[in-house]
Amino acid sequence: GNISSLKFNFVPPRPPACGFLFQRIYYLSLEFYMGRTLQNTMINLGLQNACDEAIYQLGLDMEELEEIEEDAGLGNGGLGRLAACFLDSMATLGLAAYGYGIRYEYGIFNQKIRDGWQVEEADDWLRHGNPWEKARPEYMLPVHFYGRVEHAATGIKWIDTQVVLALPYDTPVPGYMNNTVNTMRLWSARAPNDFNLRDCNVPGQCDAVLPLLCSQFFEGKELRLKQEYFVVAATLQDIIRRFKASKFGSTESVRTVFDSFPDQVAIQLNDTHPAMAIPELMRIFVDIEKLPWNKAWDITKRTFAYTNHTVLPEALERWPVDLVEKLLPRHLQIIYEINQRHLDHIAFLFPNDVDRLRRMSLIEEGGTKRINMAHLCIVGSHAVNGVAKIHSEIVKTQVFEDFAALEPEKFQNKTNGITPRRWLLLCNPGLAELIAEKIGEDYVRDLSQLTKLHKFVDDDLFIREVAKVKQENKVKFAQYLEKEYKVKINPSSMFDVHVKRIHEYKRQLMNCLHIVTMYNRIRRDPAKLFVPRTVIIGGKAAPGYHMAKMIIKLINAVGHVVNNDPVVGSKLKVIFLENYRVSLAEKVIPATDLSEQISTAGTEASGTGNMKFMLNGALTIGTMDGANVEMAEEAGEENLFIFGMRVEDVTELDKEGYHAQEYYNRLPELKQAIDQIRSGFFSPKEPDLFKDVVNMLFHHDRFKVFADYEAYVKCQEKVSELYLNSKAWTKMVIRNIAAAGKFSSDRTIKEYARDIWHVEPSDLKIPPPNEPRDAGEDKTPNGTAA
Ligand code: PLP
Repeated sequence: GNISSLKFNFVPPRPPACGFLFQRIYYLSLEFYMGRTLQNTMINLGLQNACDEAIYQLGLDMEELEEIEEDAGLGNGGLGRLAACFLDSMATLGLAAYGYGIRYEYGIFNQKIRDGWQVEEADDWLRHGNPWEKARPEYMLPVHFYGRVEHAATGIKWIDTQVVLALPYDTPVPGYMNNTVNTMRLWSARAPNDFNLRDCNVPGQCDAVLPLLCSQFFEGKELRLKQEYFVVAATLQDIIRRFKASKFGSTESVRTVFDSFPDQVAIQLNDTHPAMAIPELMRIFVDIEKLPWNKAWDITKRTFAYTNHTVLPEALERWPVDLVEKLLPRHLQIIYEINQRHLDHIAFLFPNDVDRLRRMSLIEEGGTKRINMAHLCIVGSHAVNGVAKIHSEIVKTQVFEDFAALEPEKFQNKTNGITPRRWLLLCNPGLAELIAEKIGEDYVRDLSQLTKLHKFVDDDLFIREVAKVKQENKVKFAQYLEKEYKVKINPSSMFDVHVKRIHEYKRQLMNCLHIVTMYNRIRRDPAKLFVPRTVIIGGKAAPGYHMAKMIIKLINAVGHVVNNDPVVGSKLKVIFLENYRVSLAEKVIPATDLSEQISTAGTEASGTGNMKFMLNGALTIGTMDGANVEMAEEAGEENLFIFGMRVEDVTELDKEGYHAQEYYNRLPELKQAIDQIRSGFFSPKEPDLFKDVVNMLFHHDRFKVFADYEAYVKCQEKVSELYLNSKAWTKMVIRNIAAAGKFSSDRTIKEYARDIWHVEPSDLKIPPPNEPRDAGEDKTPNGTAA
């Protein structure tokens, strides 16, 4: 009885009679965090049960086979995984959408924990080949770097460049049960034929090629900018080639042929990483296609839309002008021209407001001159969106306030979502099946139907079944941990899970202080009732982020003491989950009782892990931040464990001044925990090991851990109390699942389609079987569409 075996008597509507002149959506992203592909493909094609059965007949086990597949880890976390969920939803909704990105030869590093420290190992994910991709050498394209700009009588020329070839690899993206397969096209770098390897001894000659060939994630470096331009330049050539092919046979003159470009091409920029697409499209229009500047600019703005993913200043891209001038000299000129016209316009609207011009400039002066890539994206797009209501509000009223004052209608919200195919059917078949028994299977493509579960909140049998599925998932996860890591955990304890990238703003340190607090309470009064917990923390630290690496070491050090203290016994266990990634998320999320979403209010743009836990029957302990706010709105605040400062409280505290020492002086349990960490209680061989961490918490904690500590610990007490009452807990779980419908990425994509891409509602319908949507162009010799 697996859900994918159920008979779907779904009759797809006819497609719109729009020929081949329909809108194409291009999702440009430097990251696609896809994870594994096998099971997802079987589910979306409705083949899972047939395949399971066939494999069983061969004497094999499907789950064992699935474990052999490497994750495609071409991303870091939420942003990259969002791109992957969006591809699934765009295909499922039948949109003519393409994902464009880079085929990294090494994905995100594999994390090993050695002696409590993070160690990074290269992720050679292609070493056994990749059966899901197909190289398309017939669409190979040149990408230029360096060189100089020549002002000739015939126009401006970018010459003496170094060339790298961009070779596309296509991966199919099947929609869910709808006879649609879209394409993710990832570019790989190749040296041109005439590239002489001996020249590699000549400094400068090889700079353009070799680093891209062994591409990896590098932050804030020349190679990173090269990667960003590489994907942009190759993708725009491909888009324009396809656009021109769609015009084949048209009688339009060369002067007007691009007028319909924005009606046929929508390009969504996933953060500012592909921002160079804006000056690149202008360069193509003005220098190559010879369009007048104003017309080119109008088309460009109507083509692009920009999604902002963070308000933390250190994460906003600002490229040094010198670097851009060296690598992309013509693009720098174009950016200066865009800026000049933009500032002229502002000076006209706001005369004598020099400070406004400084704030809104694309170029930041003072010290190293830099290009503010978010400003470039805002100016060059017709829509700018944040990724949750509260985040979009901060984007509009704080971070880009001046820009919103100029063009308020440009700023939108598109609350993130997750695909219910991977994040329910695939990872939690027991729960998916149970839901289908109650409300039918249509909820898989219309997740809002989960509200029908509200009827069953008081149904004792359903409550027991939901609890049973959770218990089975917990046992299975415990078995996995024992098999893979030789650690034993108690499946009847509460699984309290905090998995996401390690970052100060996500406040894994606050969780750690709670663990130490629970430990001290048990030791103080071992006879007192304690609701057993297994605290599971996992996530990767950026290799150069010292504090994040210290946080990992601290969690492991605390875990070592807690897990080996006989007074504690099985009441409290601390597990650092090694190498958190998509395929591990699929295992741990369905087994979770309590989801930790405890960022400082105003710092987490949306979060998507939070939604995955909600849909899989975990309760949330969280701050009023990111999409937690909307989760509480959907489920009712009383059905989440909300605690701590709101954005207004954080702002207020900033005004009066945050003094960590005061909380330490006032709260004895906080004082005890900090004193232990500072004095080497958890690191007896190196008593000073964590002094930098403690020093940070006292003197430069931008995320105010101590200010929320007391509310957090009190809220955790309420969590434990409710957990004692299994029935009441599970009823709250059901209310959460019933309210999770909003967080389907299908809903998110429909909103992008309607409000940003201006796709006609009829285009959102699903085409009939065996009728190509993609008439005319992009045929390969064997007739499949590119
Ligand atoms: N990493 C992985 C592997 C994920 O699956 C997710 C889930 O959304 C994330 C990171 C992002 O987590 P969060 O939204 O909690 O930061």
